[in-house]
Amino acid sequence: MREDTRGWIEADKAHCWHPFTPQDQWVESNPLILVRGEGVWLRDSEGRKYIDGNSSIWTNIHGHGHPALNAAIERQLREVAHTSYLGFANPRASELAARLCALFPPDTLERVFFSDDGSTAIECAMKMAIQYRQQRGEPDRNGFIAFEQAYHGDTMGAASLGGVSRFHERFRKHGAPVTFVSGMEALRHLPGEAVRQACAVVIEPMIQGVNEMRPWPQGMLRELREWCDAHEVHLILDEVMTGFGRTGKMFACQHEQVIPDFLCVAKGLTGGYMPMAATLTTSDVYDAFRGPAENAFYYGHSYTANPLGCAVALASLELFEQEKTLDRLQPKIALLAELLAGLNSPKVKAVRQCGFVAGVELAEGLGTQTCLAMRNHGVLTRPIRDTIVIMLPLCATEEEIRLTVAALRKSL
Ligand SMILES: *Cc1c(COP(=O)(O)O)cnc(C)c1O
Repeated sequence: MREDTRGWIEADKAHCWHPFTPQDQWVESNPLILVRGEGVWLRDSEGRKYIDGNSSIWTNIHGHGHPALNAAIERQLREVAHTSYLGFANPRASELAARLCALFPPDTLERVFFSDDGSTAIECAMKMAIQYRQQRGEPDRNGFIAFEQAYHGDTMGAASLGGVSRFHERFRKHGAPVTFVSGMEALRHLPGEAVRQACAVVIEPMIQGVNEMRPWPQGMLRELREWCDAHEVHLILDEVMTGFGRTGKMFACQHEQVIPDFLCVAKGLTGGYMPMAATLTTSDVYDAFRGPAENAFYYGHSYTANPLGCAVALASLELFEQEKTLDRLQPKIALLAELLAGLNSPKVKAVRQCGFVAGVELAEGLGTQTCLAMRNHGVLTRPIRDTIVIMLPLCATEEEIRLTVAALRKSL
């Protein structure tokens, strides 16, 4: 092991605390120090190369070190790295907000509120949904309806919408009032009281990511929109994972022509370059926050609408057009499906795929060791329990997709 690698690992084990990580296991492990990236490839401090099979925790879209994305940040850096968005505007934020709204039909999602990550995008939607009711004369309508096994982030509000007991149960009583349902059937059977107290329903459209990549039934999102309209409940779509092409369209809601009242995006917004998020909403919601100063939305973060983040998000959206990312993705989605169908190992219990996102559920207890074996075959990913996540950057070539699935096959 190189001297500097040893030093970084020592400092890590002495001082760092990793997310979602039992630290005693971590300290016993042999961590990789990732130092470079190019396209779908990552390199560690020992010079070994790996495919980024998890898109750097579901964020990366066009690959690492993309010249156009790098240039956008460098260009912005020569102007200014950060300025306050409290009391000031900035060019890239103005351009990005307009560009995001233009991805939706006119008169639908027309306002963009920037924040820093998926959790805060959800947090904003929740607070907006509650305050909207206060300013529309329904102050008691402050509950949420969420789906079992959902994941919406880790800040206190977002976590209270989460349904993964290991992560969320502990803080349940510290969060917002939430009613959980398993699906449309259960939602339709909710007592009237629970519905009348709800300001919004929140869902990961098309597929629940953290719930081992479980897709929803086709048509469900449309039915949910109709149910929300009928009961005057706002619909919050958490597209933090599904946004920016993962499901084969720019946004998952476009598969069923659904427009939510709040749309939360983060992970892929900047192509996986910078921590940045946005909550998009309608004029109807926005209008409830106009008028006297007490109606304002008193919420924000120091780095809200960071110019570097906005610049690279704009460049990422530009790349979708220039590189025809979504058109070129369609045959890759088909290839991935074909390769996964060919896995036929007795250790594979189920293969779930939604667009370019896949989860391969293995027999119990095989998740972690299979991922470690894949590492030796040059692919990095992370299991969710015993489900191996295959989520490549959208720029992955046919060859790179084949290498990834081959690494899984050999590991099995
Ligand atoms: C990752 C994720 C979040 C949380 O986003 P962070 O940026 O990690 O705070 C919320 N919802 C979904 C569906 C996610 O996948």
